Amino acid sequence: MNFEADPDEAAFREEVRAFIAEHLPQDIAERVRRTAHPAREDVTAWMRILHRKGWSAVGWPEQYGGPGWGAMRRIIFEEECLYADAPPQHFANIHSVGPVIYTFGDDAQRKQHLEPLLSGDVIWSQGFSEPNAGSDLASLTTRATRQGDDFIVNGRKLWTSDAQDSDFMFTLVRTLADAPPHRGISFLLIDMKTPGIDVRPIKLLDGSYAVCEVFLDDVRVPAANLVGEEGQGWAIAKFLLANERAFSAEVPCTKRDMKRLIALAKTQRRGGGVLWDDPLFQAKVACLQADLDALEYTVLRAIMSGDHAASDLASLVKLPGSEMRQRVSELTAEAWSAYGLTQYPAAHGVAGAALPGPIGAQGAAETFAFRRATTVYGGASEVQRDIIAKTILRL
Ligand SMILES: Cc1cc2nc3c(=O)[nH]c(=O)nc-3n(C[C@H](O)[C@H](O)[C@H](O)COP(=O)(O)OP(=O)(O)OC[C@H]3O[C@@H](n4cnc5c(N)ncnc54)[C@H](O)[C@@H]3O)c2cc1C
Repeated sequence: MNFEADPDEAAFREEVRAFIAEHLPQDIAERVRRTAHPAREDVTAWMRILHRKGWSAVGWPEQYGGPGWGAMRRIIFEEECLYADAPPQHFANIHSVGPVIYTFGDDAQRKQHLEPLLSGDVIWSQGFSEPNAGSDLASLTTRATRQGDDFIVNGRKLWTSDAQDSDFMFTLVRTLADAPPHRGISFLLIDMKTPGIDVRPIKLLDGSYAVCEVFLDDVRVPAANLVGEEGQGWAIAKFLLANERAFSAEVPCTKRDMKRLIALAKTQRRGGGVLWDDPLFQAKVACLQADLDALEYTVLRAIMSGDHAASDLASLVKLPGSEMRQRVSELTAEAWSAYGLTQYPAAHGVAGAALPGPIGAQGAAETFAFRRATTVYGGASEVQRDIIAKTILRL
């Protein structure tokens, strides 16, 4: 297979690069460069800019507001955005709930939600996990009981990313008490302004408050917010999680981090020379680069053969992809030496404050700490290995 970009793709890359150079505000790029957790306002501002161009949801079909690009164009676009430090597309909006609504939702739900999802005017969070339902999601106990035209929801969601900033949360709830665990689950959209919702942010290892506990106490949700049929929630969640895991290989992100790591190692003084002169450090970078190239070719091969949507591929690429994101953050922290161990306040609401150390180091320790989570969220590594063993190796 030839993995070189063809002239069309090269021209497309130039077009994207020129658009970003013209439209991405530099103060936003500067803030994104310094943190693992871009602010909601910056994410929304960039989504609005992209939306005006019709590029805010690059994986979506044209009929729902996407550009209708193939997988190669999506990768090129994503790489260029990352290299320029553009804020990421809002994950829950664009990669999770959006595809669910245009695939399983009714006309009224599409009309109400798709446009504000695309523009970033409405931000979503994902309420699946619970205190006793993470890997074993089907054991979730949050209950939604039908009362006339509404559901009354009671329960507790946990690890809900950015719930404190979200306007809506899509949830899995148990609506059919007597059905077998997988069949009793439904997919419900909840307006976060509804009385009875209490959101409590959780402090993480990196010092951020990127996840929350969400308490739901007699929350009245219109039955019109049910997506698909009652009891179809598990099938919808499987569709969504496969989407999420395929995306979670995050090769473009690790490629960018590797380029920056190598550039950094060539400037960091060590002994009488620079870090890059150290053969041990070079060997660690080389091992990671070889693994990353193999992963990238696996993804590209799947794209070129049209298999990239296959659900078993999702676990195969999520597993090594999430581990590589951790490895590059470890090497980056090592390269920054003492600065790589310093937790900076910039990401946590004090952006703009005068900070010690070189600009590039701000965020290295935070990223290192937060990347511990990549092998947990979106399905833990042990669970991915289990899926690979069962579905691919047929053990
Ligand atoms: C930063 C972060 C953001 C998150 N964001 C969200 C979000 O927005 N929405 C949401 O719904 N959830 C979110 N999660 C939750 C995440 O999906 C769960 O943490 C994950 O599914 C694991 O569930 P758990 O934490 O309950 O761990 P458990 O399922 O209790 O697992 C504990 C350990 O046991 C292992 N284990 C479990 N089952 C098996 C098995 N069958 N075989 C072998 N080992 C096993 C796991 O791999 C893990 O190491 C987030 C988590 C993190 C860390």
